[in-house]
Amino acid sequence: MRRAWRREWRRIAYVLLLGFLGGWMFEAPRLGLIVAISLYVLYNLRLLQWLAQWVESPKQVELPDAGGVWGEIFDQLYAMQRRNKKRKRKLASIVAEFQASTAALPDGAIVVSSRGEIAWFNNAAQALLGLRSPQDNGQRIANLVRHPRFADYLEGEDYEHDIEVPSPLNEQYTLSMRLIPYGEGQRLLIIRDVSEHKRLDLMRRDFVANASHELRTPLTVLRGYVEMMEPEAQGDGELRAWRAPLREMAAQTVRMEALINDLLRLARLEGDTVAPRNEPVDMPSLCERSIEQARHLSQGRHRINADIEPRLWLYGRESELQSIATNLVSNAVRYTPEGGDITLVWSELGNGAVLRVRDAGIGIAEADIPRLTERFYRVDIGRSRASGGTGLGLAIVKHALEHHDAQLAIDSVVGEGSEFSCHFPAHRVHRERARVVNG
Ligand code: ADP
Repeated sequence: MRRAWRREWRRIAYVLLLGFLGGWMFEAPRLGLIVAISLYVLYNLRLLQWLAQWVESPKQVELPDAGGVWGEIFDQLYAMQRRNKKRKRKLASIVAEFQASTAALPDGAIVVSSRGEIAWFNNAAQALLGLRSPQDNGQRIANLVRHPRFADYLEGEDYEHDIEVPSPLNEQYTLSMRLIPYGEGQRLLIIRDVSEHKRLDLMRRDFVANASHELRTPLTVLRGYVEMMEPEAQGDGELRAWRAPLREMAAQTVRMEALINDLLRLARLEGDTVAPRNEPVDMPSLCERSIEQARHLSQGRHRINADIEPRLWLYGRESELQSIATNLVSNAVRYTPEGGDITLVWSELGNGAVLRVRDAGIGIAEADIPRLTERFYRVDIGRSRASGGTGLGLAIVKHALEHHDAQLAIDSVVGEGSEFSCHFPAHRVHRERARVVNG
């Protein structure tokens, strides 16, 4: 560019010199200079006009071979144009490749604009939702997937979890949908057919429920015989030698019964949907019943306290809420050494409610806490079994809480005790009005 400027200055000097000499020959050097400068300005204006036309329609206008600074500018503009074309081609091929690969994805993918309209979709989405190309481009996605759960999901901001909705083409099929926000308000909707997975899950659940149910009858027979023989073994009769084995058999049948009951309860919980939101459950009475159960289990070995908000009720399923409280207090009793304190608190927290079961028991190491709600996860298997545990209690609690849109929080210090808190959201809370007693 510097060389071009040097040439330009030289050109200006020649023009001025020519103007001056030409004018001088006619004894008017000043006029010659003015004419030369005007011609130079006109020449520049013409090139500027040329450039403006080129910028407007670069395909129709060709820039002249101007030399000097203009020539350099024109050359650089052409080089820039070539580079841009190359970049455009490269981007177009990347987009084409991306579209081809997403089109081949087994999962449906739909680009949803900030206004909720379909901007693009792949073949799988077309097949899963019955979309038509190109008619459905620009259609509102909520008009095509008309399920209240999907409408809530689309309107809300919580895209952490996916949702399951029946397929709009066939109610028998279940689609899992997940929105992934990106850019400015755009979202990518990923759709997967989970019908097969759901079917297998249902089969597994049915199998566990049926197997548990089938085991119940033979176990009842066995227990009956063991109970019949036990008193015989206490005396000096023939069964005297079987005293210890019969006691062990009785204990094991009780344990098996507890296991079968918990398995059945868990299978039932998995089969049930969200608990009703219009049936208020008397939580204060339910908590009192759990306290009674805890006292019965403890047999006076612990100090059991309760702090229960008398008018705080919950919308939900009574049997499941009872399961939550019973499991938590029975764990507190089983994992707290003699003389320890156990407290149940039922109170308001913000607009919601919280059920806390606190104990001064053995506590749980931090590393074990995230795994406690897994089926059959026990910190100490021997201790759990010895105290009559099935390893399913907290899994039942977790499922029952999910049905009530509630969360479980566990705080614990090894050797000091634990606190299990169930947090219920505001929409589950029902406040009973104080009853007016007449007379
Ligand atoms: P289990 O029938 O074995 O008690 P749960 O699912 O109720 O099964 O609990 C899982 C494990 O969590 C227990 O085995 C025990 O190790 C631990 N746990 C549960 N509650 C308490 C508690 N209050 N204090 C200490 N550990 C506990």
